[in-house]
Formats: sequence, C-alpha cells, structure tokens
Amino acid sequence: MAQIQVLPPQLANQIAAGEVVERPASVVKELVENSLDAGATRVDIEIQGGGARLIRIRDNGKGIEKEQLALALERHATSKLASLEDLDAILSFGFRGEALASISSVARLTLISRPKDQAQAWQAFAEGRQMEVQLQPAAHPVGTTIEVADLFFNTPARRRFLKSDKTEIGHIDEWLKRVALARPDIHLSLSHNGKLLRSFRPAKDEKGYRARLQQVCGKDFVAHALAIQCQHDDLSISGHLQLGGEPSAHHPQYFYVNGRLVRDRLINHAVKQAFAECGRDAIAGYVLMLQIDPAQVDVNVHPAKHEVRFHQSRLVHDFVVQALVSAINQGQDLSLDDSID
Ligand code: ADP
Ligand code: MG
Repeated sequence: MAQIQVLPPQLANQIAAGEVVERPASVVKELVENSLDAGATRVDIEIQGGGARLIRIRDNGKGIEKEQLALALERHATSKLASLEDLDAILSFGFRGEALASISSVARLTLISRPKDQAQAWQAFAEGRQMEVQLQPAAHPVGTTIEVADLFFNTPARRRFLKSDKTEIGHIDEWLKRVALARPDIHLSLSHNGKLLRSFRPAKDEKGYRARLQQVCGKDFVAHALAIQCQHDDLSISGHLQLGGEPSAHHPQYFYVNGRLVRDRLINHAVKQAFAECGRDAIAGYVLMLQIDPAQVDVNVHPAKHEVRFHQSRLVHDFVVQALVSAINQGQDLSLDDSID
C-alpha cells in the first residue's frame, strides 16, 4: 500500500497553482490586484509572447521591505489577514497568500521593490521555487515590479494548453477592461511586444468616467446607458444599464461586489426580472457595482475569487430588482452621448 506523506512545498505550490494560475491572464489578474491592494495609482503591464514569454507589472504602490521579499513568495504568507474574523471585514482583493507562491512555482519570478523609507530597491529571484530565494540590490523607484518569465516552463502539460498569443492577449485585455471600469482613478496601460495596446488615464470626473466607459463598453452602450444610483440601509448599487441600442450577442455585462468583479447568477436573474417587470424583453448590457457590508458576503468561495456568496441572497436580489425597476420607470434615458466628443 502506498504510504501517506506530506507533499514537498514545491509540489504543493504547483498543485495549488493549478487553481489560481490557469493562463497568463490569471497571472496578470493576481499581480494587478496586488498592486491595487498596495495602494498603487498607476499600473503598467508589459507582455511578451502572449504572456508565456514575459509578464512584467510595474506599480507605484507601497512596496515590500527587503526583509519581507522572500516571505512574500512563501505559501500562506500575507499581510492582509491575521485572523478568521478579519475575513468578515475584508476589502482587499488578496488574503490567501497564495498567488506569488503559486506563480513562482510554475515560472521564473523576479520581484523588485522599494518601499518609501528604504534608500534603495532590492530584488528577489525564484525559479520554479527549486532553490532558495536570492536577494540582490536593484534600481527601482518607490513601488514594485514583478516579472514572470517562461510561464509553465516546468509544467509542460499546462504550457501546451496555452492558446495563440492573440487569444491570450485577448484574455488579458478583457480582464484589464474589468479593472478599468471598477477603478477609474487608476492609470492603467497594457503593451504587447513593445506595442502599446491600451492606456487608461485616470478619470477625474463624470466626463472622464464616461470616456472610460466608452473605451470599454463601446459607443452604443454609452449612448443608451441609463445611470443607476440607489441605496437602502447598508446596500447600495450604482452603475449603468443599457436601454435599447443595436441588438448584439456581446452586450457588456459586468457586476462588481465591493469592487471585485464576480460571476453571479443572481445579477443576471435580477436584470431579467427587472426588464420583465417593466415590460421589456431584451436583456442588455450593464455595468453595476454593488456595495455591501463585507460581513454579509463570503468572498472565500473560490481560489480565484470569481464567485461570492451572499448571506441573504434573496434580499440582495430583490434590492437589485427594485433599484433597476425604479430607474427604468423613471425612464430618463440619460443619453450620455452629448457629453462625449
Ligand atoms: P495575498 O495577496 O493573498 O496576500 P500574494 O501571494 O498575492 O498573497 O502576495 C503576498 C504578499 O506580498 C501580499 O500580502 C503583500 O504583502 C505582498 N505584495 C505582493 N505584491 C505586492 C505589490 N505589488 N506591492 C506591495 N506588496 C505586495
Ligand atoms: Mg494577491
């Protein structure tokens, strides 16, 4: 009979990586979320070879101290959570302390960082986590750069699963657009093989936000977008709902809970129901942001946190339906078109 044994850390990390690191876009997601958690106001993403060759993310966030660099790459090492109770109030994207450990177990990872009160930057290098993390001095302004090279170099099955560069970049871009909507205050850019693909400037006001909305969701969406803003107790919802416009199989549909983009059947159902109650049949595009007491929602349902669980999902559902119905009925099709050049 096979003996039971504890897996060596590298193997454990590679297995965990299977859940978190599916493709280059998932690496970008984890790293950009770390940058946002670190308070960055600017995040630049450089990709080479569809992300399989290189992913480089640079931010101007608070940085990581030299003494903590190696720790940041350890599994279950996080600065965002100290007790189970903290999970009830969590507003950061991260808390599982798994991303850097997972990524560094399936790629060659370089972490360069400089916190504000450290005279110089330090760099940590880890390759498939086979060896000790190596530290050396580096040149870098305040903030962090993470380079992930040769993704899946040691997990050939995963590497073979990667699609064309174009497809992988498409996934990265799609993900970036989601962040761009949720965080209009952040300067974001994406380049591939040295060519700038996207640049989102910080949106300072409503007009700036609409421009960003148009960049992500298109002219047609913005031209028919009805603004939603509704609050009840500690629930609030804001965003835009598309009323009318060209029929399309690809209406933009984005739903965020406390700033986190999630897939949730509740929202689709609520939108459908609201449309039905108002005598409209077409399901359309929406960008909706729900704010809820973090104690009322469980974000720890899925390692990549694509899903959440509401403690009182009926209540949330009905609130969303109500908010949408009253916005639709008020009917002011606030055509946003006029204010966009
Ligand atoms: P988590 O985000 O769940 O805490 P990660 O493995 O993604 O786990 O990151 C581990 C830790 O490394 C974080 O808790 C944070 O302290 C630090 N860290 C990672 N990326 C950055 C960054 N870009 N800027 C500052 N600190 C970072
Ligand atoms: Mg993280």
